[in-house]
Amino acid sequence: MGYGAGGWLAKLGMVDFAGSTVVHSLGGWVSLAGIIVLGPRIDRYNKDGTLNPIPGHNIPLAALGVFIMWLGWFGFNTGSLLSGTNLAIAIIAVNTILSAVSGSISVMVCTWIREGKPNVKLTLNGVLAGLVTSTATSALVSPFLCIIIGAIGGIILIIGERLFEKLRLDDVVGAISVHGINGIWGTLAVGLFAQSQFSQNSLGLSINGLFFGGGIKLLAIQALGVVAVFGWSFGVAMGAFKFIDKTVGLRVTEEDEIKGLDYSEHLMSSYPLFDEFQQKQDLIFNELKRVQELSVLHEISQSMHSLNLDEILNLILRGVTQSIGFERARLYLINEKENSLECKMAVGIEEEKIKTITLSLNDAQSIMARVVLEKKDFVINDAKKDPRVNPNLKKLFNLRSFVAVPLQGRDRIMGAVSADYIYSDKVITKEKVDSLITFVNQAGLALENAKLYQELKLFNEKLEERVKKATEDLRKTQEHLIQSSRLSALGQLSAGVAHEIRNPLTSIRILFHSFREKIAPEDMRKDDIMVIENEIERINQIIQQFLDFARPSKPKKEKVDVNKLIEDTLLLVSYELNEQETEVKKDLLSLPAIMADREQLRQVFLNLIINAMQAMPEGGIVKISTMINNNNIRICFSDQGKGIPESIREKLFEPFFTTKEEGIGLGLSITKRIIDDHQGRIKVESNKGKGTIFSVILPCR
Ligand code: ADP
Repeated sequence: MGYGAGGWLAKLGMVDFAGSTVVHSLGGWVSLAGIIVLGPRIDRYNKDGTLNPIPGHNIPLAALGVFIMWLGWFGFNTGSLLSGTNLAIAIIAVNTILSAVSGSISVMVCTWIREGKPNVKLTLNGVLAGLVTSTATSALVSPFLCIIIGAIGGIILIIGERLFEKLRLDDVVGAISVHGINGIWGTLAVGLFAQSQFSQNSLGLSINGLFFGGGIKLLAIQALGVVAVFGWSFGVAMGAFKFIDKTVGLRVTEEDEIKGLDYSEHLMSSYPLFDEFQQKQDLIFNELKRVQELSVLHEISQSMHSLNLDEILNLILRGVTQSIGFERARLYLINEKENSLECKMAVGIEEEKIKTITLSLNDAQSIMARVVLEKKDFVINDAKKDPRVNPNLKKLFNLRSFVAVPLQGRDRIMGAVSADYIYSDKVITKEKVDSLITFVNQAGLALENAKLYQELKLFNEKLEERVKKATEDLRKTQEHLIQSSRLSALGQLSAGVAHEIRNPLTSIRILFHSFREKIAPEDMRKDDIMVIENEIERINQIIQQFLDFARPSKPKKEKVDVNKLIEDTLLLVSYELNEQETEVKKDLLSLPAIMADREQLRQVFLNLIINAMQAMPEGGIVKISTMINNNNIRICFSDQGKGIPESIREKLFEPFFTTKEEGIGLGLSITKRIIDDHQGRIKVESNKGKGTIFSVILPCR
C-alpha cells in the first residue's frame, strides 16, 4: 500500500513511507488480538483490579536490545528509499535519531514528574515510540517537526500503556502502545505535517499535510488507511488466534507458565546460576513452610490436653491458611446420626454463614460427600458451573475454584477440609494440594488423639463422679445400718426394762389404790398421797411409751371420722389447755371417713397438741385445721412457740431426741412410725421465734 504497489489505499494517495501502519500498527493489532485470546499472565491482576508488577529480568539487556533496534532503524528507514544515492537519506537518518531521542526524553521527563524518578523501562520504550513515529514521517517532515512528533509519540505511549493496564490487557513489553498506537500517530502525522520540499527529494512526490496547505484530504486518507488496516489485521488475527486456541491450544499449561517456558520448551534455563539460587531458595522456603506446618501440628498435639475441640479445629484451619497459604478454609465433621457433614469452623468467612451448612452424605454425587465416602481429594476448577458442587455452598462462599481433602484418623474418617483463594487470582497448584493433603492427614491424626483424650477425660470425670456418689451412698447406708442396729438394740433393751418395771409397777398401783382408800379424808398425808399417785401415773405413761416404741402393734383399721377424733382428743387435754391459757382455734372442713387405727391416730394428735402446748409455756394459740386435697387428708397443727432451729430439724424424728429437760424424745418418733404405717407423711415447717406447723397427710382410703 504505502510502497505504491497499486493497492486501493495507495491509489487513493495514502503515504506510509517505511510502514508506520503496514509494519507497526499491523504488528500492534495482531498482538492485541493475541493477548485478548491469551488472557493476562498468572498473578498479573489482583481481584480488586490492582496490578502486580512483573518486572523484566534484565534492564541492561533490554536497553541493549533497544539500542540494537535503534541502529537497525537507520537501515530500515533509510533503506526504504528506492535509491541508495538519494541525498534525502541524510535527512531520513537525522529525523530517525531525532524522533528516537525526543520520544525517549519526553517519556523520561513525564515519568520523572509523575513518579519522582525517571522510569528506565518506559524511557526505553520511548525510544521505540519515537522510532515508530519516524517510520512514516522521516522522509516527509523537517527535523524540527520530527522532534515534536517523536515527543508526542512518547506521551501517547504513556497514555496507551495506562489504558491497556486499565482494560486488563496484559501487554507484556508495551508492544501495542509502541507499535499499534504510535503507528497510528506516525501515519496521521504525515497527514498533518508532510511538506512537499522533503517529499519531493525523498519520494519524488509533492505531498503537503494539513498544516502545510495540503488540506484535509491527505489526513482523511491516512485515517482511512489506519482504520482499514486495523479492521483487516485485527479481524484476521483474531480468527487465527481463536482457531489456534481451539485446535492446538494457544496458551501453555499453568504449571509450564509458572516454571517458565525455558523448561517446557527446552528443558533448561537461561540462567543456571540464578536457577540454582532459586532452587535453593525454594528448598529453604519449602523447609520453612514444612517447619511452620509441623509447628502447628506440634502445637495441636501439645495442646490436646489443655484445649477444647473448637480450639484444636481452629489451629488446623490456621495451619491451612497461614502455613500452606490458602486464603480461606472450611472444616467439616461427620454427624453420624444424621449421616451428614456439618461445617464446624471456617477461616475467611463470617461465622454466621457457616452455622447453616449441613451437607447430606446420602447425596453420593456431591463433591463433599465423595471426598468423605471415597476418601479422595478433589480439585474443582470452576465451581460455578460444576453440578457436583452444592448450590448453597456456591452461593454462600461465592466459590470459584477450590480443593477438598478428607480429614482422616488412624482408621476412621472424621470429616473434610476445603480451601480456596478468593482475594487473588492464584491458581491451586499440585504442590499446594500435596501440601494440604500431607498437612490435613497429620492434623487428622492429631485431632483424633485429641478427641480420644477428651473422651477419656470426660469418661474419667464421670467415673470419678460415680465413684464419689457410690462412696457417699455407701457411707449413708452404713450410717443407717449402724443407726438402725443401735436403735433395735436400744428398742430391745427398753422393751426388756419396761417389761421388768411394768409388773412390779402394776402391783404397786393396785396396792396403792387399796392403801389410798383406807386413808381418812382428814388425814394430813392426803396431799403427799396425791403426789405419789401422779408420779406413779407418770411412770406408767413412760413405760407405756417405751413399750409402744419397742413393740409397735399393727394398726387395726376401721372407719374413722378425723374431725371427730380431733374433737375427742382435745377433750382429753382441755384441763391442761385451760391451765396454760392456751386457746385452740379449729378450722375443720368436712372430710370423708378414712380407714385408720383410731387409737394410734389419737396418739399422733395428742403428741402433736402436747408438743405445741409445750412450745408455748406462757400460753398462746394452737391452730388445728383439716382439709382434703388430691385424695389426701391434711391435718395441720400450728403453734406460736419458739420454733425449731434448722440444725436439729433432721433429728426431730429420731428416737430419744429431745431438747426438753423432762422429755424422753419418743413422741415424734412414734408419731412418724404410726403415720408411716398408714402410708402417710409428716412435714414440719418452722420459723424461728414465730412458731411451728406440723402437717400430717393421710391417704383417703
Ligand atoms: P419430747 O417431746 O419428749 O422432747 P418429741 O419426739 O415429741 O419428744 O419431740 C422431740 C423434740 O422436738 C422436742 O424435744 C422439741 O425440741 C422438738 N419439738 C417437737 N414439737 C415442737 C414444737 N411444736 N415446737 C418446738 N419444738 C418442738
